[in-house]
Amino acid sequence: MAMVDGTRELEQLTEDGAAPIGWDGRSAREMLEESERLFAETGRYHGLDDLALKAGDPIGYEKLFSRLRGGLVTARETALNISASPIVKEIGELCFALYTPEGDSVALSTGIIVHVHTMSDAIKYMVRQGYEENPGIRPGDIFCNNDAMIGDVHNADVQTIVPIFWEGELVGWAGGVTHEIDIGAKTPGSVPIGPISRFEDGIDLPAKKIGSDDELWRDHVLAGLKGTRTPMYWTLDERTRLAGCHMVREAVERVILEDGLDTYKRFVREVIEDGRRSFRSRIKEMTVPGRYRAPGFTELTFGKEEQLPSYARRDGMMHAPVEIRITRDGVFELDYEGASSWGYHSANCAPSAMQGAVWVQMTQTLICNDKVNDGAYFGMRTNFPPGTWANHSNPQASTGNAWFFLIPSFTGFIKSISRALQARGFVEEVLAPYGLTANAFQGGGIDQYGNQSATTNFGLSCVGGGAKMVLDGLDYAAAMWNPEGDMGDMEMWELIEPFLYIGQRVKPNTAGPGRHRGGSGYEALRLAWKTPFYEMQNIGNGRVFIQAGLWGGYPAAPLYRHNVRNTDFLELVERRAPYPVHEPDPADSELARAVKGDHQFDIETVTLPEVMRQGDLYLCPFRGAAGLGDPLERPYESVMSDVDGDHLLPRYTESIYGVVPGDPDGTERRRTELREERGSKAVPAREWMKEERQRILGHDMIEPVQRMYAESMRLSERWAEEFRSFWELPEGFDFPVATPEVDLALQMRSAAGTEG
Ligand code: MN
Repeated sequence: MAMVDGTRELEQLTEDGAAPIGWDGRSAREMLEESERLFAETGRYHGLDDLALKAGDPIGYEKLFSRLRGGLVTARETALNISASPIVKEIGELCFALYTPEGDSVALSTGIIVHVHTMSDAIKYMVRQGYEENPGIRPGDIFCNNDAMIGDVHNADVQTIVPIFWEGELVGWAGGVTHEIDIGAKTPGSVPIGPISRFEDGIDLPAKKIGSDDELWRDHVLAGLKGTRTPMYWTLDERTRLAGCHMVREAVERVILEDGLDTYKRFVREVIEDGRRSFRSRIKEMTVPGRYRAPGFTELTFGKEEQLPSYARRDGMMHAPVEIRITRDGVFELDYEGASSWGYHSANCAPSAMQGAVWVQMTQTLICNDKVNDGAYFGMRTNFPPGTWANHSNPQASTGNAWFFLIPSFTGFIKSISRALQARGFVEEVLAPYGLTANAFQGGGIDQYGNQSATTNFGLSCVGGGAKMVLDGLDYAAAMWNPEGDMGDMEMWELIEPFLYIGQRVKPNTAGPGRHRGGSGYEALRLAWKTPFYEMQNIGNGRVFIQAGLWGGYPAAPLYRHNVRNTDFLELVERRAPYPVHEPDPADSELARAVKGDHQFDIETVTLPEVMRQGDLYLCPFRGAAGLGDPLERPYESVMSDVDGDHLLPRYTESIYGVVPGDPDGTERRRTELREERGSKAVPAREWMKEERQRILGHDMIEPVQRMYAESMRLSERWAEEFRSFWELPEGFDFPVATPEVDLALQMRSAAGTEG
């Protein structure tokens, strides 16, 4: 194998549209159609039977994969230095991937790998839509996409996609994504809760050609400067993505120069089929077939938001009846049948976002140590019914903060897989549900330099990790969407946000209790500084547990809001009087006692932006994760060390854990009493169900809950039938609430000819 230093000059095609760009004289679209036909006919990627390259030269095969993968990781680690955004540079919210000409992923870098499949969808869209003929796909071209309905999670995730050519043939695509700090939406930041339609989601680049001959087109660059509140970050992030894509292209060119085009072509097919097979065998080896269910929920409370139009000014609930089925021959099926409706808010998802989430969860569980590529996608079946929040199917709906429902719902995925792993004995792999990546400290206005700016503080990528079967959850270091959680440096955030950190530390009682507790969240107290106005949001859960723990473990706590305006904080500082730096116990709050001002101290945890000024205080509490196993089984020493480490407030040692501090023997006696108390309070499940059934029959629940179930029933006959038969409800039972979003969704479904 020869080593080469340089690669090649940019290739020039002879004439416009002279020849198809696919292999063997075909167009890219013909290649995609053939690939899909072969998969449908054989169930194998490209109909491959023998993995001849792998079988004939297993070491060479592994080396080839490692070189491509190395090229991708190098591209990421190098290119992120071009960015100035802390989200990209410090926290690493970017990734690069390599695709086949048809758009199937071959290999990916580290980073926010949720996007490996979203970019696949975007490439397939361009191929299907005939971009080859118009606007053309040529060497040196640059494409950009951030449209969730084409292939993305939300507008903030901006993709750059570059075709890779070899002697007139399209041999693949390089793609890169960064998460922008502001996207020019109706409200500032990158996960805007505020838009209620697509027209408010900000910069809109639905798979656009933005450059040629390796240069970004000037009109696109200039438009970008006007499109966001943070044009410098936008511009540098774009250059980051482009540089990375070009590095990936060079890595591919090196491999082709060294190993030949034929080997490369065979390799990219085989490695995806290999990925599919290894996913299948992993499912067979590590799980027990069956049907696993774990519904997730979230609240979205807009009823108080007077600036919203009446149809959007409502309190709502999301329902995600997650079901995973694993068949005897190792097919993995993920079913969202019965999900509640899309809505007039920014928390809607397109299927691409859901597939992205499947990816990022799989790589943290079942396929964490094998070849990761679209093979797993081909080994799976999914159902995201149109009209639900998980597949809004509405060309006008907003997806600005698709994560807001997606994150809670995928706790059901982790919980289900954990049960399947536990059943097979892989207990070290088990995880209780992770924390909601919230609170989002997000806003915009005039910063400490007098400039217009915006921020989303990605300290939220360090919430609690779920409890394990053998260990406690990871404390303030996890994000379900990025397996390399990093909160960034406070000094970096203070550089770009007009808010000083007064304190940052672990937040007690955020972890879900259990034999093993969930990971704790943390909190930051921020002081608005040198800003005449900056409008700030709170985004998180305050009323609803997103998911219960595992096997008797408790859910993680929802949290609250504590913001103080018109404070005397600066006077306290002037007088050198003591001031609070955190709020370990909201029931005994020094922040409430010591600081005068207008306190928002409540459970309104989803808000539209509200103005803060110099001297105002913002408490930013990050969530913890769920526990595993009965808290009464947690060792005495572990509970005491939780108290010492500020993970648990002392007054909860007994009520939750039955621990009498300083008295291990008394603890055992107390735990026996508590078990007896539990027994005396318990009622048989049948009787409890009788009472619940009466509540359902009498519609004895708040309107948002009734509407949530009504949406599920009206969008899915199958789910409605199961709900009615489980609760032994009369035929045709429904809730007396209007669901206008469902009416529209059903209308769209019948127009599109798709049934749920
Ligand atoms: Mn994003």
